[in-house]
Amino acid sequence: MRFEDLGLIENLLKSVKELGFEKPTYIQERTIPVVLDKKDVFATAQTGTGKTAAFGLPILHRLKKHQPNVHRALVLAPTKELALQISEDVHTYAKYTDLKIAMIVGGKDLEAQRRELKRGADIIVATPSKILEHIQNGLDLKDIDFFVLDEADRMLDMGFVKDIRKLNEYFSKKHQTLLFSATISDKIRKLSKLLLRRPIFIETAKKNTTVKNVSQIAYKVDEEKKAEATAYLIGSRNFEQVLVFTRTKKSADALVEVLREYGLKAEVIHGDIQRSTRLRRIKEFKAGKFQVLVATDIASRGLDIAELPCVINYELPAAPSDYIHRVGRTGRAGREGEAISLLDIYERYDIRQIEKIIEEKIPQEILEDFEPDPTRKREEREAVKLKSEYKNQYQKRRPKKKQPAKTKKRKTTKRG
Ligand code: AMP
Repeated sequence: MRFEDLGLIENLLKSVKELGFEKPTYIQERTIPVVLDKKDVFATAQTGTGKTAAFGLPILHRLKKHQPNVHRALVLAPTKELALQISEDVHTYAKYTDLKIAMIVGGKDLEAQRRELKRGADIIVATPSKILEHIQNGLDLKDIDFFVLDEADRMLDMGFVKDIRKLNEYFSKKHQTLLFSATISDKIRKLSKLLLRRPIFIETAKKNTTVKNVSQIAYKVDEEKKAEATAYLIGSRNFEQVLVFTRTKKSADALVEVLREYGLKAEVIHGDIQRSTRLRRIKEFKAGKFQVLVATDIASRGLDIAELPCVINYELPAAPSDYIHRVGRTGRAGREGEAISLLDIYERYDIRQIEKIIEEKIPQEILEDFEPDPTRKREEREAVKLKSEYKNQYQKRRPKKKQPAKTKKRKTTKRG
C-alpha cells in the first residue's frame, strides 16, 4: 500500500513525502482508514512503529483548516518528553496546512501557555494533570472532536487514571477516541471500556510482544564485571549508537564514568539532571554527536531516535513492561535492531517475568571473560551487589585508564 491509497489530502502527502516515508507502516495502514471512517480505535503499538503519524495524519486530514477560538483535538501523553515529541512530529506533518498545534506540559509558564492557546490551537498535546489544571483555570475543551491517549499503559502506571476519568466526564460532546498502548492489562481493558465506543482493535504485533524486527539476547555476566562487559560489547561490536538502560540514577552515573574510561563517548540522562540538559543531550545524541546514551527508564520516556541499532539493558527494568518500552527504541519503523540484556544472578527471576509478558524466550549466552564467578560465595555476592547499588564502586576500582574497548578482542561462546 502507498500513502496515496489512503485518501489523505495532498498537503499531508506532500509533508510525508518530504520526510522520506516511502510507504505506510503497518499501524498506519490499519489505523488511518479507521480514523477517517470516524470510528474509535484501540491499538497496541510500541513507540517506533509510526503510531504518531497513524493518528496524527488522519486527524489533520479531518480537521482540514484552522478554526479560531476552538480546540478540536486533545492528545494526552504520559510525559513532557513524549508530548514534545508528538507535538514536534504532528507539526511536521501539518507543515503544508494552516492547522495549529499547542503543547501544555509542566515546567512551562502557565500564562505563556495560555497566550499560546489564545493564538489558536486546533490540536493540543498535553500531559493529563496539566491539561486539567488549565481546564480548572477556564480553558474550554468540552467540545473536542478527537481524544487521543498515547502510551495509555504508562499513563496508568504513573497514576493518571483519575485525571483521565475526570477529563472523560468533562467532555460534553460525542467525540472520537483513539487509545494506544504498548501493553495490554486488565486496567487498560477497563479504561478502554470506559472511554471507547465500539472500537476497532488494531494489533501491531501479537499480544504483548516486543517489536518483531529486534533480535534479543541475554548475556550471563558477573555482577562485578557488568560495566566492563558493556564497554566491551559496545566497542567490539562497533555499534554506531547505543542506548544503555540502568535501573537507578546512581548506576547510570557510575556506568557512564566507566564507559568514558574505556574511551567511549558517553552521556547520561536521568531524573536528577536538569530537564534542559536532558533535552540537549537527547538532541545531541540524535544528531550523532556521541555514541552512547545511558538512561534510566523515566528519563528515556518519549525519547524518539530513528535508526538506533542497539539497546543494552545494563540492568533489567524494575517493571517487566518497561522492557518492551526499552526494546521499542531499536528496530524502529521496519529497521533491524538488537536488544542485549546483561544478566547477573540476581536478575534470573526478573528475566522470567519479562519472558512471561512478551510470551517468548530470550536466548541466554555466556560472555567469555565476563562470566559469573562460580567460586564467589553468597555473602560476597551480596556485598558486591550492595556495593554496586549504593556506591560508585567502578570509579574506585579503576584508577588507571585502560585500553579503549574497541581494541580488545574477545569471543562469545554459546551455552544454551
Ligand atoms: P513513532 O512510533 O510515531 O514514534 O515513529 C517512529 C519513527 O518512525 C519516527 O522517527 C517517524 O518519523 C518514523 N516514521 C513514521 N512513519 C514512517 C513511515 N511510514 N516510514 C518511515 N518512517 C516512519
